[in-house]
Amino acid sequence: MNLQKSNSNNRRSRLFADESAKFTFVCYSFAVVHIIYFGFFLSLDTLLLYAYAMFSSLLYLYMGFVTVRKKQFIKMLLITVVEVAFFAVLCTVCLGWKYGFMLYLVAMIPIIFYLFTSVSNARNTQMYSNLLTIFVILCFILTKWFGDFEQTLYTPKISDTLIRTVYCINCLLAFAMQTIFSFIYTMEIQHFKSNLESEKDILDAIASKDPLTGLLNRRAMEPHLTQAKETAEQKGSLFSLILCDIDDFKKVNDVHGHALGDQVLKDIAGTFRDNLRDSDYACRWGGEEFLLLIPGRMDIASSVAERLRTQVSTLSFKSDVGTFSVTMTFGVTEYETGYRLEKLIKIADDNLYKGKENGKNQVVCS
Ligand code: GH3
Ligand code: MG
Ligand code: MG
Repeated sequence: MNLQKSNSNNRRSRLFADESAKFTFVCYSFAVVHIIYFGFFLSLDTLLLYAYAMFSSLLYLYMGFVTVRKKQFIKMLLITVVEVAFFAVLCTVCLGWKYGFMLYLVAMIPIIFYLFTSVSNARNTQMYSNLLTIFVILCFILTKWFGDFEQTLYTPKISDTLIRTVYCINCLLAFAMQTIFSFIYTMEIQHFKSNLESEKDILDAIASKDPLTGLLNRRAMEPHLTQAKETAEQKGSLFSLILCDIDDFKKVNDVHGHALGDQVLKDIAGTFRDNLRDSDYACRWGGEEFLLLIPGRMDIASSVAERLRTQVSTLSFKSDVGTFSVTMTFGVTEYETGYRLEKLIKIADDNLYKGKENGKNQVVCS
């Protein structure tokens, strides 16, 4: 029997990139870059720059150890953006534009947006991203506008080739930063997409099933009925409906208790599952009423109903009061061209009613 299987995997997947791990990576990699620059600036004997590079490396190590562990991600990001901007401006003012330190500012903008919006449970992240982006752009433009490029603070005695090499390294690092964060961003989007899809599958499965019996619920059955009718009209393939109801079920509840009544419903649903084919659909139509959609003519549906009637009557239940069994009455009908579904269900219901009137525990077809 087709139970509109949920192909969802039930595992709740964890976030692709753990937040703390991501921000620790940012802090430590920035610390490493600044330590390398510390060595470079030291070799150039540019006190202001190597002192700043040393201070920044220690700052990133501290933030990696303390700020990130305390989950103060926004604070850490604000400090990082201001530090990178200051680093780029300071290096440019001290050494000139030809070293390419301003490239970091250009690389920062998409990273700012990505990192701020990836902080969960944080407020105003959009505002921070916008303001910091404006700040970074202003740093770039104002440095260009007011900077005195003839007279830099330091003029280290190094070859043009080395300057070009530093420019290329800065260029490479700036591109690498963008590439790494774009890659992580893409992976996260893919991860969230597949999470959403599996969550949707789970929700669809929950929404389409009757929680007690595990059969389809009435809402989920309706599209199958409509589909069967459309196929019947287009291709002439017939289908039948079986509407069935437990006999004297109120008495079962009254005598044996509601919990056992529930067990009866579950076992009957199990009997349906065991006896129906993949192409059949069964749903809990109401309280103790089930609707079955059987492809094929009424004689097939009638024999299905007869088999289910027999099987249900062999089920045995035990309560404090004693052992008991239940019976069901079945109303069967077949689709005829032009019938509306409501009419078809009404005929099945009329047949069920006739069966109840005639003494229950029987199959009535018409
Ligand atoms: P009939 O043979 O004419 O169908 O009689 P009946 O007693 O089965 O019919 P009636 O409509 O009087 O009672 C149906 C009962 O089904 C009443 C209701 O308490 C019970 N019922 C409906 N849904 C559930 C359920 O989810 N669990 C349990 N335990 N009982 C339910
Ligand atoms: Mg009943
Ligand atoms: Mg009923």
